[in-house]
Amino acid sequence: KHYEKQEILDLAAQLDVRYVRLQFTDLLGIIKNVEIPVDQLGKALDGKIMFDGSSIEGFVRIEESDMYLAPDPDTWLVFPWETSHGKVARLICDIKLPNGEPFLGDPRTVLKRVIEHARALGFDTLNVGSEPEFFLFKTDEQGRPTAEVNDEGGYFDWAPLDLGEDCRREIVLTLESMGFEIEASHHEVAPGQHEIDFKYADALAAADHIATFRLVVKTVARQHGLHATFMPKPIYGINGSGMHCHLSLFKDGKNAFADESDEVGLSVTARHFLAGILHHAPAFTAVCNPIVNSYKRLVPGFEAPNYVAWSAKNRSPLVRVPAARGASTRIEVRSPDPSCNPYLAIAAMLAAGLDGIERELPLQPPVNRNIYRMTDAEKEIAGIQTLPENLAEALDKLAEDDVLVEALGEHVLTHFIEAKRIEWNIYRTQVAEWEREQYLQLY
Ligand code: GLN
Ligand code: MG
Ligand code: MG
Ligand code: MG
Repeated sequence: KHYEKQEILDLAAQLDVRYVRLQFTDLLGIIKNVEIPVDQLGKALDGKIMFDGSSIEGFVRIEESDMYLAPDPDTWLVFPWETSHGKVARLICDIKLPNGEPFLGDPRTVLKRVIEHARALGFDTLNVGSEPEFFLFKTDEQGRPTAEVNDEGGYFDWAPLDLGEDCRREIVLTLESMGFEIEASHHEVAPGQHEIDFKYADALAAADHIATFRLVVKTVARQHGLHATFMPKPIYGINGSGMHCHLSLFKDGKNAFADESDEVGLSVTARHFLAGILHHAPAFTAVCNPIVNSYKRLVPGFEAPNYVAWSAKNRSPLVRVPAARGASTRIEVRSPDPSCNPYLAIAAMLAAGLDGIERELPLQPPVNRNIYRMTDAEKEIAGIQTLPENLAEALDKLAEDDVLVEALGEHVLTHFIEAKRIEWNIYRTQVAEWEREQYLQLY
């Protein structure tokens, strides 16, 4: 929905909003906000609220640290939960420099730039539908998360005998009251694991929705005495949490991926886009699976992909082409996980696909067999690559990929790789419980 400044001011007064959170995300996708009393709302909508960027992860600049918040009026939303000091609303913001230029280290700005690139190629819309999964854990007396999930349920179970179901229903109702259109909500394969799917949206709104979704899920879970986590692999030996992304491009209001005359219903554009996705997949993995723990999910045996291939039939490869055709024709990228920065992840996938279109990359044949049952030799003949096995490998692949380097931009790329290498280096020198169990007595 589109709002004018005056409409927002009127709504704020009408609904008795007391505070407004000016929301943005840092490089790592963590939601940040500057809270203002409602009498500052007019000033905020004029883009006049300043903050110090130097304490935000990835925003540091050598020149100066003053930055301005430029709210996107269309993201106006009043939170449905009451607080002790009245109603709170939020606006999602772009980050601007004092001279009015967009700050290129702002993830939302990065995504907007890639969207502009798509527009220049004639695509007016990139629809993104996401399927975020998450776990609900019990909390202890201090409200801290425990390692205990709160139910014994499984995939599509009717009644996991517990709080999880209630909590999920409440999350759905809250999201609906905030304007989300929920398409599906179910228990996932692992105990304590859930999935809520909301309607696809244009790339920028889709990323905004993912950020807001994570906030709502965590907030409502806390109200139920539970901890919701989007950590990709919280428990060894059972499924992790993914965030499949369904992508399609539109030109002149028509789905540019659809072609009924094609054997699997995919247009030449879709085939090139898909080829671009496969080509750049090892490189965008660092962005779509950005934490050390992400790589514990991308292993065989838990419905998460680890091979770079596509299929219209089975679900083991990286990309699946769902059965829906016509206006709903799309591809489903199955590797992203919900720990990603949604702006950067969507920007990276879009840039990858657009590169496929621009260079008319040829699409490798589909792999309709279960790749996990293929021998290494068979995989080599079929040209099937694997995704990076850990964060370090993924960062190397990202740094080498010119298209993604260009799409993310110098500022984001340098800070991202630097922060992630530090994370990796701290991790790789840790001594895990597993190691002591294995080695302490033996050696
Ligand atoms: N949890 C699985 C993953 O890690 C996906 C399971 C599913 O949605 N079929 O991607
Ligand atoms: Mg699903
Ligand atoms: Mg799922
Ligand atoms: Mg799916």
